Amino acid sequence: MDFNSLIGNSKIKEYLTNVALTNQNLHSYIFAGKDGIGKKLFAMNFAKMLLCLSENKPCNTCKSCVSFDGGNHTDFMLINADDGKSIKIEQIRLMQEKVVEKPIVSAKKVYIINDAELMTKEAQNCLLKTLEEPPEYVIIILIVSNESKLLNTVKSRCVKIEFSKLTNEEINSYLESHGMDKLSTSMLEQCDGSLKMALNIGNKAQEYQAIEKIINDLNKVDITKIWNSSEILYKSQDEILDFLDYINVILYNKLLKNDKMMYINSIKVVEQTKKNLLANANYNMCIDNLLLKLWEEFNEQSNRS
Ligand SMILES: [Zn+2]
Repeated sequence: MDFNSLIGNSKIKEYLTNVALTNQNLHSYIFAGKDGIGKKLFAMNFAKMLLCLSENKPCNTCKSCVSFDGGNHTDFMLINADDGKSIKIEQIRLMQEKVVEKPIVSAKKVYIINDAELMTKEAQNCLLKTLEEPPEYVIIILIVSNESKLLNTVKSRCVKIEFSKLTNEEINSYLESHGMDKLSTSMLEQCDGSLKMALNIGNKAQEYQAIEKIINDLNKVDITKIWNSSEILYKSQDEILDFLDYINVILYNKLLKNDKMMYINSIKVVEQTKKNLLANANYNMCIDNLLLKLWEEFNEQSNRS
């Protein structure tokens, strides 16, 4: 792993490389930006460079690089929300116990707190102590997608690096170079600059195409046929919110080309369906209704506009 294999945000790449090579690091950073654009990969790579023992960082061969890649570097710690929901004060205390011990392999110690906005208030207040007076060998990186959840006192003690969304060209060229098909314009809009989302969609291109077909067929076939050919929606309970967002991207694109009330109404129908699903309404009935109402919008347009 090195920066060359990461896409996008080339200025940040340059900056972090320079920091690591010239040993001009600060003690605490916030890596901020949308989910799925590579913040964690950048942070991991930066950490590896900071810890590397050679001049040509990361050399991939020194003791530090090898143990970093092996996931067992004694001077490195990656902190995650263990339960996926919150990072607790106990985790920060454990980190602080390690922080005060001098590095063993490398000249520095690096701590990455992933999804740092999930730190409880207590955890953040506890972390403050370390941010205020870090040992000189310590570097802390907070990765956040939703900065508003960090305490101002925490933010003010870190240097913020703002990551940009990836461009559509960057996403498609990445997919192509990894043997995947390019995404359509609607699919790229659904990604909104997130490679994570692009890979997700790329792996499910058939599903997304099937959804596009359902919407495009609405004004061509009767409702029974629509229901019968929409298996993809009925069986995708786990991903339905993504799929509904995608339907809205398609509807929105249609609206841009052809300013008709039916598209606005249809978008409202989709939004209402999301609300109903989140309120635990009967799943199949929600999909039945969604399709029926969309079909009505598409087929009663002449009466309305
Ligand atoms: Zn190395």
